[in-house]
Amino acid sequence: MSNKRQHQPGDGDATEPATDAEVTRPRSLYDATGAQLAAVLAGEPAYRVKQLWAGLYEQCKALDDITTLSAPLRAKLNEELPTSLLLVRESASDKGDTIKFLWRLADGDHPIETVLMHYADRVTVCVSTQAGCAMACGFCATGQAGFSRQLTVGEIVEQVVRASRHAKQRKQRVANVVFMGMGEPLANEPAVWSAIERFHGDMGISARHLTVSTVGIVPGIRTLANRPLPVNLAVSLHAARNELRDDLVPINKRYPLEELMTACRDYLRVKNRRISFEWAMIAGVNDSARDASELAKLALSLKPTAHVNLIPLNPTPGFATRGTDAAGVRRFADRLTDRGVNATIRRNRGTDIDAACGQLAAGQPVVLTGRRSV
Ligand code: SF4
Repeated sequence: MSNKRQHQPGDGDATEPATDAEVTRPRSLYDATGAQLAAVLAGEPAYRVKQLWAGLYEQCKALDDITTLSAPLRAKLNEELPTSLLLVRESASDKGDTIKFLWRLADGDHPIETVLMHYADRVTVCVSTQAGCAMACGFCATGQAGFSRQLTVGEIVEQVVRASRHAKQRKQRVANVVFMGMGEPLANEPAVWSAIERFHGDMGISARHLTVSTVGIVPGIRTLANRPLPVNLAVSLHAARNELRDDLVPINKRYPLEELMTACRDYLRVKNRRISFEWAMIAGVNDSARDASELAKLALSLKPTAHVNLIPLNPTPGFATRGTDAAGVRRFADRLTDRGVNATIRRNRGTDIDAACGQLAAGQPVVLTGRRSV
């Protein structure tokens, strides 16, 4: 079992990786390490901790269903280490294959969301890593709603455990976790990394099926490169020239494309895992022949070449523009393919329940800002 330190919600600069000083003691059941559970179960035989750990992470059971523990022990654990997420709403779309969970965090009213996606050959969970996001990408509902706070490792882990419990009802097992929900994962890297260790070491999810997405936090990419597991890196690129990217993804002003590509190259050298570029397709903004050519150049500059995921932009109320139409997306994909770049057009899951990329705002009000100057 993992014995890593946990992350405490930080009040610092949410655009920077959290520091070790912000990593303190656990707050909830899923924040607790084995040693901390053992402390709560003091006086019980050592195997009780193993039973509890297996119930929580291998079987993904609710505490009350771990009947290898006595009712008084479960009551004590419930009392001393409550869970973090209160389910507010569960919505389904795609004939029940996409489920969005809206949670309220136990310490207040920060809403966050998790999306569970059932495919023919796999089950994927998309997790949030922050309540809100400070990155302010103009086309993203989460960014428009602002930043509330970092999530703890327990709050991240509990999202996957509870989604897994839901998948088990369909006799399916979560095999993929993507850190692409609310928030910028690498601005909360210590908690994200501890969660990755829990998913990999305790829930049996392969590192190759864990994907960390980033909008381009260069120090975070470097930290991730020094971590031991070869997790996938997905870079939310959306523009391949600084002038446009500064506008679409404001963090580009701090870490421009040249720096970002150097960090990607270094990540590849250490991990040897193909990087993917995410590209939200915005009509008349980043879907021209010039954009395709610039994107192809960046993708081909990495070895192995970056894989490009094209995401038709989802409508969000604060960004008064629209996604590229299906023919335009196809044309753009062909331009990439013609240049030797592998590109996939991502099918949007859950658009009707605001569960698709760039739509997670947890029901918070989104301010109308009108068309951006691009
Ligand atoms: S796209 Fe990602 S990084 Fe940008 S505001 Fe939205 S959640 Fe944050």
